[in-house]
Amino acid sequence: MTPSRLRLARQRRAMTLTALSRASGVPLRTLSAYENAHHTPPAGTVARLAAALDVTPAFLAGDDVDLLVPDVVSFRKLSRTTAGRRDAALAAGRIAIEIADWIEARFRLPAPDLPTLEKHAPETAAEMVRQRWGLGEHPVPNALHLLEAHGVRVFSLADDCREVDAFSLIRDDRPFVFLNTDRSAERQRFDAAHELGHLLLHSGAPRVHGRDREAEANRFAAAFLMPRRGVIAQGLREAGVERVLAAKRHWAVSAMAMTHRLHELHLLSDWNYRTTCVALSRDGYRTAEPGGGRPEVSQVLAKVLAGVDAAELAAHLGLGTAELSRHLFHLVPTALAGGAETTPRRATLHLVP
Ligand SMILES: [Zn+2]
Repeated sequence: MTPSRLRLARQRRAMTLTALSRASGVPLRTLSAYENAHHTPPAGTVARLAAALDVTPAFLAGDDVDLLVPDVVSFRKLSRTTAGRRDAALAAGRIAIEIADWIEARFRLPAPDLPTLEKHAPETAAEMVRQRWGLGEHPVPNALHLLEAHGVRVFSLADDCREVDAFSLIRDDRPFVFLNTDRSAERQRFDAAHELGHLLLHSGAPRVHGRDREAEANRFAAAFLMPRRGVIAQGLREAGVERVLAAKRHWAVSAMAMTHRLHELHLLSDWNYRTTCVALSRDGYRTAEPGGGRPEVSQVLAKVLAGVDAAELAAHLGLGTAELSRHLFHLVPTALAGGAETTPRRATLHLVP
């Protein structure tokens, strides 16, 4: 058994050593000795640990892994996130990187195309990347597909990582974004754009998580999804709630994000901004997105899953197919077909941005 993999599996379940000891019946001190590589457990114990952690014994026997540490990722709302839940999300991210490695040994994915825009203000950076990616002043059709077409690897966070909105990191020159799918389509798009902001604006310096960086990433996301000139051209000065709702449908953003953007661009007075927020809250737009769109899902992962045996991938990773699916936007078919593996070597995925 590989000690780092025991720790990874334990963190993925947000279990303390004490909790794992209780769940597996393995004494706490013995468990601690396993995780610190002082002892190697017998096969029967490995099986009990694997069962308690919902992985296969093969998962625990895999290659040594380096766990993701909070410094290398950007987190939103870290203050509200307990360390255990944060580590569970990081462990999910680490497992997703193993999935990415498996995929990239078989498929050629788009090369990363993220310019370095660290010296620019968020609004300018958003305009520059929109221009580079040929978006003009149009709405972003599908933010997730757009990121993937420009080389970002996107995975879903399991639904037991609810406290974490999203996070991003760069590993081996590959940008990764992890999205929580347990929110509205509009909110998930904003999260994707927010993480893109971190990747473009904050990837060079050490990832210090501060309010400033969060504000910058939010500002970037708003400008990326609702470009200044495009919004101004809509003639929305002092627009009422109905027109704000029409505009938010046009840009596929939340009603609150649209209202905030109109205020930011001085198209809504402070007074109208406040009254619009009150009206939208009353209609349920603060906590949800009534009449919202369908959440975006990965195009890369859908295409990969159409061409591989997901059961083989799950077995390779040492995970059950249900757990695998949690990382893959729930795209793994529930009834898996068996049969021989016929994946062509390094096939190129053709993506529609
Ligand atoms: Zn952030």
